[in-house]
Amino acid sequence: MAVGSAKLIEIINLVANDIQENKDFLTQLDSAIGDADHGINMSKGFKAVTEKIAAMTDKDCGSILKTVGMTLVSTVGGASGPLYGTAFMRAGQAVGTKKELGFDDLLLILDAALEGIKMRGKAEKGEKTIVDALEPAVEVLKSSPVNLKLLEEAVKAAKDGVEYTKGIIAKKGRASYLGERSIGHQDPGATSCYIMLAAVHRALSEKSS
Ligand code: ADP
Ligand code: MG
Repeated sequence: MAVGSAKLIEIINLVANDIQENKDFLTQLDSAIGDADHGINMSKGFKAVTEKIAAMTDKDCGSILKTVGMTLVSTVGGASGPLYGTAFMRAGQAVGTKKELGFDDLLLILDAALEGIKMRGKAEKGEKTIVDALEPAVEVLKSSPVNLKLLEEAVKAAKDGVEYTKGIIAKKGRASYLGERSIGHQDPGATSCYIMLAAVHRALSEKSS
C-alpha cells in the first residue's frame, strides 16, 4: 500500500460518503439512547471536511489529517466533534510531514486516534462508546505486521465491538443518564467508528491502491 496525499483525500471522501449514507441510521440509534443527532452531527462535520480538504492534494498527509480534525471540532456541536476531531488531529501529529503512507502508518494513525479519544473522553473499553469499536481494531492491528487481510480482521473486531455495546451500560456521554435502560441498544459512536474503518478497508481494497 502506498497512499499519497491525493489517495488519502480520496479515502477520507469515501468515509464521508459512507457517513452520509448512514446519517439516518446513526441518528436513529442516537434517538434510542441519546438526543437523536449523531448522524446529523457526523454528516455535517464530514461535509465540511470534504470541502476543506479538496484543494490539499499538494499538502503532506499530516496536514490533511489535522485539517480533518480541526474541521470536525469547529463544525460539530455534539460530543462526537471534539472526540473524532482530537482523534484526527492526533493521527495527523503521528504521521507528521510524510507525503506517503504505508500499512505501518495505518496502525500509527489508528493508535494515535484511539489514544486521543481516550484522553479527550476519559473513556475506557466497556463504557459503551467509540472506544469499544476502535480499541479491539487497534489490538488486532498490533498483533502482527499490518496488511489488507489484518485490516479486514480489525474491521471485523470493530463490528464485534459494536455488537458488544448492545449488552452493556453506558458510562459516558448522554446515554449514561439512562443507566440500565441503555442496555439493549447499540452505541451510535461505536457504530460510526465501525462504518469509518470499513470504508477505509474498502477504499484500500480497490485495485488502484
Ligand atoms: P452528543 O452525545 O453530544 O449528542 P453525538 O450524538 O454526536 O454527541 O455522539 C454520541 C456518541 O459519542 C456516543 O454514542 C458515544 O459513542 C460517544 N461518546 C460520548 N461521550 C464519550 C466519551 N466520553 N468518550 C468516548 N466516546 C464518547
Ligand atoms: Mg447525540
